[in-house]
Amino acid sequence: MTAVASALPPGSTIGILGGGQLGRMLALAAAKIGLKVRIYGDDPESPAFDIAAAHTIGDYTDLERLDTFASHVDVVTYEFENVPVDAAEHLAAHKPVRPGPKALAVSQDRVVEKTFIDGLGIPVAPFAEVASPADLAAALQRFGGPALLKTRRLGYDGKGQVALAPTDDPARALRQLGNQPAILEQRVSFAYEVSVLCVRGLDGSVRTYDIPVNTHAGGILRRSVVPSPLAPHHQEIARAFAERIAGALDYIGVLAVEMFFMGGDAPQPLIVNEIAPRVHNSGHWTMDACTTDQFENHIRAVAGWPLGSTSRHSDAEMLNLIGSEADNWLTLAADGHACLHLYGKRKTRDGRKMGHINRLRPKV
Ligand code: AMP
Repeated sequence: MTAVASALPPGSTIGILGGGQLGRMLALAAAKIGLKVRIYGDDPESPAFDIAAAHTIGDYTDLERLDTFASHVDVVTYEFENVPVDAAEHLAAHKPVRPGPKALAVSQDRVVEKTFIDGLGIPVAPFAEVASPADLAAALQRFGGPALLKTRRLGYDGKGQVALAPTDDPARALRQLGNQPAILEQRVSFAYEVSVLCVRGLDGSVRTYDIPVNTHAGGILRRSVVPSPLAPHHQEIARAFAERIAGALDYIGVLAVEMFFMGGDAPQPLIVNEIAPRVHNSGHWTMDACTTDQFENHIRAVAGWPLGSTSRHSDAEMLNLIGSEADNWLTLAADGHACLHLYGKRKTRDGRKMGHINRLRPKV
């Protein structure tokens, strides 16, 4: 079965679980190539509803609502990784779910994720599963230096994390995380952070985008820049890691793999931190700097279309507009060098991603 033979024709409907800005930009990309989108979301003010041909409001655990949703769509995808695996498996009995539920199961639990990646022979920071203060005390002793305690599940943008020294009180640290199941990771000293955005089609073909260097502030992505200073041979390693992970998950769609660059002389120059089974904030520059952006390529992949070219025609800097920064929209709109993207969110909140700008320069 080739991708083209099983491609959904224009006019088909892609079901997207999740109504945030990623769903909104997926809907825009689908519309560009004649595909419709039905969004499933639990918030009546979901920004993606404004763009979608149709939407269903419901809880992600409401199997009846999910059945109704499934009956209106040709294929299902998702825009956030915390879709309950049960919901994805339930939907998969009715319609193809791409990427499959396995990608969700792996990325939702940091211990499962790191064990999976490590099992593929890809370096990760030393880690230990933590279910009790005794586990934590033993792991802190073993690592012997600064470490990060993270919740196994539902952590994002640096939330659900505590920095620890070997002498810190394990019981107190676990209490800070609400005594949830946790993972301890050795705190590694990296030179900078990069991410590989890779897209895998229904026929198993894979393409990657150029690798951005990412900077965070307060745990939230602030800026992504391409090209990164990563040397070509390190870029090859990074791309190969992402492709190996995508292949092992039998993945369909865009997969983001976040990595630490440890420096050229390090025994392991690249360490994988985490994966996101979806389009990713560090790929937003592709909207203005590439032949086919990450959103269109995700839609193409889940619809069984041939993948579009990931080639980059410009150097680019993506800057997130966080909280009140987007109030500045009139000035940003007047900036002839900034490609402005606003997500149409009705309420501004501190730390909330409201939009982004891409600044382009001729490729050097
Ligand atoms: P995460 O929630 O795993 O995405 O982590 C959020 C941020 O914390 C990352 O982007 C890194 O800047 C930092 N971080 C996470 N894990 C580690 C680690 N093991 N060592 C050093 N820094 C880390």
